[in-house]
Amino acid sequence: MPEYILTLDEGTTSTRAIIFDKNGNSVSVAQYEFTQIYPRPTFVEHDALEIYSSQVKSITDALKNADISPKSIKAIGITNQRETTVVWDKNTGIPVYNAIVWQCRRTADICEDLVKKGLSDYVTATTGLKIDAYFSATKIKWILDNVKGAREKAEKGDLLFGTIDTFLMWKLSNGKIHATDYTNASRTMLFDIHKLTWDKKLLDELSIPMSMLPCVYPSGHYFGDAEILGEKIPICGVAGDQQSALFGQKCYNAGDIKNTYGTGCFLLMNTGEKAAVSKNGLVTTLGATLDGEKQNYVLEGSVFIGGAVIQWLRDELCLIKSAKESESAARQVEDTAGVYIVPAFSGLGAPYWDMYATGTMVGLTRGSNKNHIIRAALESIAYQTNDLISAMKADSGIDITSLKADGGAARNSLLMQFQADISKLEVLVPSDSEATALGACFIAGITCGFFKDREHTLNLNGDYKSFKPQIKGAKREELLKGWQKAIKSTKVFSKGE
Ligand code: ADP
Repeated sequence: MPEYILTLDEGTTSTRAIIFDKNGNSVSVAQYEFTQIYPRPTFVEHDALEIYSSQVKSITDALKNADISPKSIKAIGITNQRETTVVWDKNTGIPVYNAIVWQCRRTADICEDLVKKGLSDYVTATTGLKIDAYFSATKIKWILDNVKGAREKAEKGDLLFGTIDTFLMWKLSNGKIHATDYTNASRTMLFDIHKLTWDKKLLDELSIPMSMLPCVYPSGHYFGDAEILGEKIPICGVAGDQQSALFGQKCYNAGDIKNTYGTGCFLLMNTGEKAAVSKNGLVTTLGATLDGEKQNYVLEGSVFIGGAVIQWLRDELCLIKSAKESESAARQVEDTAGVYIVPAFSGLGAPYWDMYATGTMVGLTRGSNKNHIIRAALESIAYQTNDLISAMKADSGIDITSLKADGGAARNSLLMQFQADISKLEVLVPSDSEATALGACFIAGITCGFFKDREHTLNLNGDYKSFKPQIKGAKREELLKGWQKAIKSTKVFSKGE
C-alpha cells in the first residue's frame, strides 16, 4: 500500500527530497548543494545536469535513510526556484548552455529595448509582470542569440525550453514529459495569465519558436510517470516555490497572505478569481490550482534584502556570530533609540522603486550601541514587509488581519512580534516551517487522492505560534513616521540632493 508522498524541493542553492506521511509530517529528508557559477559579476548560472543528478542523489538517500521502498510512494510533488531557464537538445537531453538563474542581470539591455519599443503596458496587461531581466523570456532569447547554432536548431524544432520543474520532469520521465504548471509559466513573461496560453505577440517580439515551449497544466494534475529506482511513480503536483509556500500555508481564500522571510522576502496574497492590478509596483501572478478548479490569482511583492541584512551584520560588520544571535542581542535593548537602517543594498523595491538607492543608517547618537543597530536591522525587515502589506491592501481593497510567516528569519520571535506590532495584524508561524515543500506535498497528495481535499489538509500540521499586536496606536504611528523619514533620507542621498 503506497503510504507516502515524495516532494522534490529544487531551490536556488540546493536540491532536497522530503518524504511526507499521511499526517503531512516529514519522515525523511536528504539535501545536496550544487555549484553556483558566476562567469562575470552580474552573471549567475547553474549546471542543470548537476541539479538533476543532485536531485536523484537526494531522492535515493531520502528513501534509503528511512528504509522506504519506491513502491510505497503514492505520488511525487515538485516545487522549484522560479524563472531559471534551461534550453536543451531534445535528441541528446543535453542543455545547450548552463541554466540562467533568476538572479542573473545579463539581459537588462534586452529589457530596455522592450521598454523602448513601448511594450511595458502590453507586458503588464498580458503577463501581470513588469519588464525585467528576472523573468525567463529574455534569458531564452539570450541563449538563442548567443549560443552558436542554437537558433537554427530551435527553428528546426530540436530545442526545448523549460524552467527547472520542466527539465526535472523531462529527465525523470526519460523525455516523455515536456510540461510545466501555471505558476511557473506565469513567471516566464511569455504567458497570458488571463487566457492561460502562451502569448504569440511576445514570442514573436523575442523571436522564440512556439515549438520550444512546454504544455501548461494546473499545479494539481497528473503530469506523467517518473522512473525512480526502476519504479514508475506518478508526478501529481508542480508549483513554483512561492506559490507552493502559499499553498503549504493553506492560504486558500481570497485575502489570505503569507510572507517567506529568507535571504529576501516574498509576500504573496491570494486574491481569489480576480486578477488585481497593482498601482504600487506589485506583480500579478498565478496561484496553484488543482484540476477542475477555477484559476486563482495572486499579488506578489518582494523585499530584496530581508534576512540578508542579518548576514551582513554577521559577515561584514562582524556584530554577531550567527543569525540566531541577532535575537538575543536585540533583546538587550528596549528599542532602537531612534536608529533606522534602510538596507537598500541593491536599490529600493516596491512600492518605492529606486534602482539607484543605496543603504543608509540614520538617527545615530553618542549613545547608539551595537544592539541598537542589530535591532534596527531586524526591524528593517518588518518595515519593508509592512510597506508591501500596505501596497497590497491598497491594490486589492482587501483588509488584512493576519499573516502566515515562514522561512529562516521567521524563527526570530522578536522580529515576528515587531511585525505584528507595526502591521497591526496577527502573525502566525507554523511549527513546521517547511511550507514550500509542504505545499507541493498537499498539491500532489490531493490530486492523487492521498489527501481527500483542501479541507482535509487544514487539519494537518496545524500548530502555529501566534504573535498579536501589543503596542499602542500612537507608538506605531511614531515608529512608522520615523521609517518614512529614513526612506526619504535614502532617496535624497541616492539623488545626491
Ligand atoms: P533562503 O531560502 O533564501 O536561503 P532561508 O529561509 O534558509 O533562506 O533563511 C535564511 C535567511 O534567514 C538568512 O538570510 C539568515 O540571515 C536569516 N535568518 C536565519 N535565522 C535567523 C534568525 N534567527 N534571526 C534572523 N534572521 C535569521
